[in-house]
Amino acid sequence: APRTHWLFGDQLGPHFLDPRHGGPDAHAPVLMIEARSVLRRRRFHRAKAHLVLSAMRHRAAELGDRVRYVQAETYADGLAEAGFGGRGNRLTVCHPTSRAALDFVTSRDEVDVLAARGFLLTRAEFGAWAEEQTGDRLRMEGFYRWVRRRHELLMDGDEPAGGTWNLDHDNREPPPRGCTTLEVPAPYRPAEDEIDDEVRHDLDRWERDGKVSFVGRDGPRRFPVTRREALAALRRFVSHRLGDFGRYEDAMLAADPTMSHSLLSVPLNLGLLDPAECVERAEEAWRSGGAPLNSVEGFVRQIAGWREYVWQLYWHFGEDYRGRNRLRHTAPLPDWFLDLDADAVTANCLSTALAQVRDTGWTHHIPRLMVLGSRALQDGWDPAAVTDWFHRCFVDGYDWVMLPNVVGMSQYADGGRMTTKPYTSGGAYINRMSDLCAPCAYRPTDRTGEHACPYTAGYWAFLHRHRTALSANHRMARAVKGLDRLKDLDGLLEETSARGDRAP
Ligand code: FAD
Repeated sequence: APRTHWLFGDQLGPHFLDPRHGGPDAHAPVLMIEARSVLRRRRFHRAKAHLVLSAMRHRAAELGDRVRYVQAETYADGLAEAGFGGRGNRLTVCHPTSRAALDFVTSRDEVDVLAARGFLLTRAEFGAWAEEQTGDRLRMEGFYRWVRRRHELLMDGDEPAGGTWNLDHDNREPPPRGCTTLEVPAPYRPAEDEIDDEVRHDLDRWERDGKVSFVGRDGPRRFPVTRREALAALRRFVSHRLGDFGRYEDAMLAADPTMSHSLLSVPLNLGLLDPAECVERAEEAWRSGGAPLNSVEGFVRQIAGWREYVWQLYWHFGEDYRGRNRLRHTAPLPDWFLDLDADAVTANCLSTALAQVRDTGWTHHIPRLMVLGSRALQDGWDPAAVTDWFHRCFVDGYDWVMLPNVVGMSQYADGGRMTTKPYTSGGAYINRMSDLCAPCAYRPTDRTGEHACPYTAGYWAFLHRHRTALSANHRMARAVKGLDRLKDLDGLLEETSARGDRAP
């Protein structure tokens, strides 16, 4: 008889049940465990809890009689309830996406762990690549080119399609002048059904009983939770929105949070879409003249480059990466940030980004990096607490994707293993890349005084605080030297420290 196959809540696409290439047994009965303790331990965004439960229950409904769906306090309880452990019947599971879950499944005698699915490369393939790299740091660009070659993505023979690997310089434009939105077709929006009603009802009840507590609003569901919805979202993106993806990828508009972004991180991270099919469809769009190369390359870079790189680094860097704190930042996160209290914030960029998180659990990468993350970095917040905040508050947040993105990319807590320099800026960058500064009470050019921009002041205060460490970094040395020209540095530092952890 086939062994039962256990599906985690982020392993919901058909490829996780495909018996080929070392997958689960054909026609394996399926086990799913909805573990309550996960929600009880931490305060998640309610929209995120909704998405994961809705996605799991939709998958169970599709699998019908084939699945045993167990609601239990913990995974161990769930396994016991389903009759596993100590009785000789075995089950399989695909390599989970977090270290904690991997440790759990490998510690169980009755569980056989199969290779990971939902990524382009195996850990061994990545290990072999990493082994060959020289120098003190792995580089995303080199990794990405290697993946492109290996998977023949956007290649013309041995050469990159269009003759160049990197079209980033075409993909950093400020938003079009005078526009409040990008005026691209709207992203796919799912319709809720009775499973969503039931999930909402359960979440209400658990909250009322004091069993769990959430942050953020749980408005109408915005992201796909089934394979069918995920494919519809992918199709809509590729045929209507991909064309404009590249150019304004890094721009922000207050009234247009999604711009031309794909909104595919949720279905990708739930395992509903396979990254290979996403990049292949984008490439087809370019080959058939449906989208320009800069957009398609930019999108392929995000998925076959960044996403894959982050997944591999999560395992490669090891468990102690989680605790890295090279800049020795220890300040706790202030309550207004923890509670997503956008109304308490005066700075327009921060208030806008925080409101997006509160209302949807999602922002695109630039608000994450250059507004939310940058605030944390400039104010010296504890990187582990910042990582936890992103993990709980973002609908696409999972341990594997948070660690490299937040500890490394956003907080520079790894001292530069992931990026060559800290990602933070003064208000000038935000002003150039968005329409957020014009209506703001602060001025991006002001370092001190009533209208001092918290990002501009914070940037200089950050450089000052880490002057010694940063002047050793050749990409930062010039910026650090700029401190010497600031006549108002003392005043700036005084004002910044007087603000303390009050909302800027
Ligand atoms: P698009 O802009 O349309 O990009 C396409 C896809 O590329 C995304 O769906 C995603 O799957 C992938 N991608 C791009 N960059 C990354 C990256 N750095 N890491 C992983 N995947 C990437 N992404 C998450 O999926 N989950 C997270 O919890 C997460 N946290 C982040 C935290 C910070 C501080 C930063 C700077 C980035 C984070 N990202 C995270 C990466 C990126 O911001 C999101 O994947 C993206 O904004 C999701 O929106 P989208 O699907 O419209 O992306």
